Amino acid sequence: MALVVQKYGGSSVADARSIKRVAKRIAEARRAGNDVVVVVSAMGDTTDELLDLAADISPKPPQREMDILLTAGERISMSLLAMAIDKLGVKAKSFTGQQAGLLTDAVHGKARIVDVVPHRIRQTLEKGQVAIVAGFQGVNTGNNDVTTLGRGGSDTTAVALAAGLDADVCEIYTDVDGIFTADPRIAPGARKIDRVTYEEMLELAASGAKVLALRAVEYARRYDVPVHVRSSFSGKPGTLVKGTHGDLIDPNASSEEQEEAAMEDPIISGVAHDRSEAKITIVGVPDTLGQAARIFEVVAAAGANIDMIVQNVSAAATGLTDISFTLPHGDIRSTVAALNAVKSELKFDDLQVDDEIGKVSLVGAGMKSHPGISARLFGALRDAGINIEMISTSEIRISVVTRADNLDDAVRAIHTAFELDSAEGEAVVYAGTGR
Ligand code: ASP
Ligand code: MG
Repeated sequence: MALVVQKYGGSSVADARSIKRVAKRIAEARRAGNDVVVVVSAMGDTTDELLDLAADISPKPPQREMDILLTAGERISMSLLAMAIDKLGVKAKSFTGQQAGLLTDAVHGKARIVDVVPHRIRQTLEKGQVAIVAGFQGVNTGNNDVTTLGRGGSDTTAVALAAGLDADVCEIYTDVDGIFTADPRIAPGARKIDRVTYEEMLELAASGAKVLALRAVEYARRYDVPVHVRSSFSGKPGTLVKGTHGDLIDPNASSEEQEEAAMEDPIISGVAHDRSEAKITIVGVPDTLGQAARIFEVVAAAGANIDMIVQNVSAAATGLTDISFTLPHGDIRSTVAALNAVKSELKFDDLQVDDEIGKVSLVGAGMKSHPGISARLFGALRDAGINIEMISTSEIRISVVTRADNLDDAVRAIHTAFELDSAEGEAVVYAGTGR
């Protein structure tokens, strides 16, 4: 008998029929003798609809009220799911994040979990009942206000509960069969990955792969929670997120066996893409000591989460340079205002905003020890006629910025160049609008 945490995403509980289907799966897991804790997201596109609704009321609603509003989505799905399970003859109880003991800091809209005290969940399991927990929410330990964990935060709820309850596995149920070598909505030849390390999954999630929330992966790595990403629409095994690169290699094995195990760890795990960023270029900055420090102090104070930075060599004649950086679309307005406010101090000529960019990233732990990966990636983009505007790398990732229009083609070109296309035909996308 195992303790399993199962998380169902919005597209798995989009309507009454889906909720009944998921309830069956949960009842089966319980009847098989497992202790079952379920984390559920809001139905379908409910969260986006609530955001749109709030925007119709006020351009800048109080964040506290925004969080209360958004957590309503998960309350709807958790109670309906508990009813559906109850109807199948299995006892189930639903809990808000606060009732489930998800304690967070005070940052509305992006709160971090500071502790998990799941007394009521344990009591429920002890009675042989299924515990359903509303995803994506917690309570601020300072003032008891309701908080949300950021978009996609139900994944984080699930992993945190799995860690807090010392669960055997955390299953993330979604609308595709697991983690793919690229988004199957864009690259139909994408292959399902059987196993990926925490560090690779962190890079993929940070580079825009939406299948798992970044903070959930951080949490899983920190507490060593194995995460199984799979489809709620099929019975197929999905992708196991676990361990670090080289885990397959047994130090006591013969060198031949070690080599064989190393071969099983693929060089490349996948291609991720991100459409959520824009580029700001500060044109004609005097190339003098401390300018970059000052610029990014101002940007940081505006609350922008910047990603790539490029500074050009200054023109010999003028001593002026250009600095470009990327940031989320949502941070453009505040950042531009903050930079313009110090224009005379920084003495730059102009600010240019470009929100028509896309970012594509290639991730793989084997990159560290394999030369020629960048050359192959750049060659693939050249052959596809796609211009590269910015480049950044980590030990196990290469990212490039392209025109937004070229992004899908760039994903496909790189995916093919690294021979990631499946021989088994197209990946199945069971549901979801990908919104
Ligand atoms: N419902 C929230 C969202 O759409 C949380 C989640 O789905 O994980 O972002
Ligand atoms: Mg959702």
